[in-house]
Amino acid sequence: MKLFECDHCGQTVYFDNDTCVACGHRLGFAPSDLAIYALKQAEGDIWYKANDRSRKFRLCENTKIGVCNWLVDEGEDETFCVSCRHNNLIPDTTTEIGLDRMRRICAAERHLFYSLLRWNVATPTRKQDPESGLVFDFLEDTVSPDGTVTPAMTGHEDGLISLRVAEADHVTREIIRDQMNEPYRTMLGHFRHEVGHYIWDRLVRDGGRLEDYRQLFGDEREDYQEALQRHYENGPRPDWPEHHVSAYASTHPWEDFAESFAHALHIVDTLETARSFGLAVDDAKLAPLGDPYKCADGERLAAAWIPLTIAMNAIHRSMGQRDFYPFVLTPDIVTKIDYIISLMNGRRPTAKAA
Ligand SMILES: [Zn+2]
Ligand SMILES: [Zn+2]
Ligand SMILES: [Zn+2]
Repeated sequence: MKLFECDHCGQTVYFDNDTCVACGHRLGFAPSDLAIYALKQAEGDIWYKANDRSRKFRLCENTKIGVCNWLVDEGEDETFCVSCRHNNLIPDTTTEIGLDRMRRICAAERHLFYSLLRWNVATPTRKQDPESGLVFDFLEDTVSPDGTVTPAMTGHEDGLISLRVAEADHVTREIIRDQMNEPYRTMLGHFRHEVGHYIWDRLVRDGGRLEDYRQLFGDEREDYQEALQRHYENGPRPDWPEHHVSAYASTHPWEDFAESFAHALHIVDTLETARSFGLAVDDAKLAPLGDPYKCADGERLAAAWIPLTIAMNAIHRSMGQRDFYPFVLTPDIVTKIDYIISLMNGRRPTAKAA
């Protein structure tokens, strides 16, 4: 992600800040400009840029409960920002726990949308596309009278993404991560993975790219339920680390795409963050990349990314923390990342299939 500053006083601010700690202005993120603006209130619910009275906005409806800092352009016929307007079922925000979960969910969701905006991905809502617009259900677990908890299911179907609300709790998520023997599990990772399925529908299946997709990821017509069952009964294929970015990616070509998509986003967005802070282990590899979101060459991206992850892992270990990026990118995996970033940049893949 890029580095933001208050456009009134120049103070460096975080993407999620709603107030400038230096000049005290209300801050809002304008998705149309990918910029954070210092604001002044005009009449009613209209706000304008402190530096330009002609730019007017409304605050996203979710700012009222303190879970969003995005703006809606004055002329737009929407009360929610481009991220929050995709929400359908949400946690009960009248409770402290529910509100806290909603805050974490919305923060991860906005981070996802930052990337989708950077890649200029069309994400119609259900209002715009009732059949397959992008919509999120954040589902609560069901608790039976005897106290048995049935976890809500995470998944994707025709643009409807379901995420388990309880995963916004660090303890719950960490227990699952440990049980599933996963090296990494975050809300942002869930968003990036699930939206990977949505992108597959839109850009691969509907985009006429099935043939080259199948060459790299395999044939998705393979029975999905059987593949999952096999994975959970027998464990992943022993050679998965050679070809797949995670054990779960080896279950089925759909999951391989979604996992690879999530990693393409991890890599591109984190490289952008590193660049914006002038952080590079090998600047000769990072600097020529330019804007990582616009890079459509997986090998160049990996060449900049891998040294950074080794350094960051060592830094994390020095702090007694788990590895920052607990994954190994083989040439096969880089080829898949290359496919995805080429797809997002509207180009055919550049790297050769291994
Ligand atoms: Zn300021
Ligand atoms: Zn919002
Ligand atoms: Zn999936």
